[in-house]
Amino acid sequence: MDRALFVALRYSVQTGHSILYDQQTKVQWSKYVWERCTIPKHRYILWLAMQQRLRTRVYLSRFWHEMDKLCLLCGDHNEDISHLFFQCTYSNQCLKKMKDWLGCRAQTEDFYKLLQWFSKVKYFSKLRKKFCIATVTALVYHLWRVQNDALWSCKIWQVNHTLEGIKTEMKMRLTVLLYKGKKDRDNDWIQKLYS
Ligand SMILES: [Zn+2]
Repeated sequence: MDRALFVALRYSVQTGHSILYDQQTKVQWSKYVWERCTIPKHRYILWLAMQQRLRTRVYLSRFWHEMDKLCLLCGDHNEDISHLFFQCTYSNQCLKKMKDWLGCRAQTEDFYKLLQWFSKVKYFSKLRKKFCIATVTALVYHLWRVQNDALWSCKIWQVNHTLEGIKTEMKMRLTVLLYKGKKDRDNDWIQKLYS
């Protein structure tokens, strides 16, 4: 709700709650965007996606009516944020493989809910949670990049190629994370991750 409007209205619990809820929601997603373990260029794309401001074909069609809205990766559905992350058959395959790799048991296919799941899962160490949040952010970035390559280079990378690129990038990130120290319980999953 607009603050000026709130001041003009008679106070009620409902209006007060709506302002607090809006702020709380914003704070909740921004902590994933600004998670220090994520790669800065990845953060920016997640930030745009969280705000529904990523220039998808559906988004651009609001300004350019002749725009073909079909997804370049599957050609079956219109390309909006929900489709790209992760209703599209291409991105959904990437997500499934990434979940297997990270040991994620969450059923959700919504990137925000997935980030929430990783931040709350009790049996992951703090280091592992940070790594998983950074990896989901990397996946969003790389899927956006795959879409851009399809548009500008007419090339669609294979799912495994995309996943391997993310794993390599995250391996370097893990080195940075480990620099700050790890606990004994981290050894097992790190070993399995890159075995
Ligand atoms: Zn698609």
